[in-house]
Amino acid sequence: MSDSRRLRIAIQKSGRLSDDSIALLKAIGIKLNIRDRLLIAHSTNENIDLLRVRDDDIPGLVMDGVVDLGFIGENELEEKMLERQAAGKAADFEVLRRLDYGGCRLSIAVPNEFNYESVKSLEGKKVATTYPYLLERFFKESGVNAKAVMLTGSVEVAPRAGVADAICDLVSTGATLEANGLQEEEVIFRSKAVLIQRADGEISDEKQALINRLVPRIDGVIQAKE
Ligand code: ATP
Ligand code: ZN
Repeated sequence: MSDSRRLRIAIQKSGRLSDDSIALLKAIGIKLNIRDRLLIAHSTNENIDLLRVRDDDIPGLVMDGVVDLGFIGENELEEKMLERQAAGKAADFEVLRRLDYGGCRLSIAVPNEFNYESVKSLEGKKVATTYPYLLERFFKESGVNAKAVMLTGSVEVAPRAGVADAICDLVSTGATLEANGLQEEEVIFRSKAVLIQRADGEISDEKQALINRLVPRIDGVIQAKE
């Protein structure tokens, strides 16, 4: 059974944010007993439980008040916020800190043979992405009539597969784009990992006191690395 007095923190179970998020929790003095297959991990020295889930689920868990805190990439957070707003669902949260890991950019890339001149070159085109709301917002702001085609994986092969004319995907070094014969043309969003808190006013004083104790320690860890 879950104990409502324990602070609940959602982190990505396995992926690019997992190791850095766990390292940060450990660096601020939270002792954790993480077993690979388990969804829940309990801290042995603080009133804290970790919920280990897919990163896609973290914004909703925080916005629905299922967990108190979450470590998440701004790209995923912003996408889910737009999706929830479009569906008329509550999308409240508070960003406690922007963190020093998980850096990447969401970019539009086209096949090398695509004659790209400006964003207008995308007029009437299909662009494959896992982030349709962020991409549609960019199209709207740019005054371009293009279509976002949702793919949850293998976005980079979509042009070769004839599914789309271009892609919009996360990039860090650009090696994946290059390996797939794609050229980065537009950066539409720059992202880092953030720590977010539920903003529904339902956090107890005890939990808030614990959060207020943890956040300055995060600042200390980040400053020590600079
Ligand atoms: P999950 O199984 O949890 O859904 P995922 O495949 O969606 O995992 P990851 O590839 O582990 O997610 O990426 C998680 C987050 O890491 C991204 O949303 C982004 O914020 C960040 N990130 C940093 N660099 C990159 C990169 N080069 N490519 C993709 N994501 C990156
Ligand atoms: Zn994901």
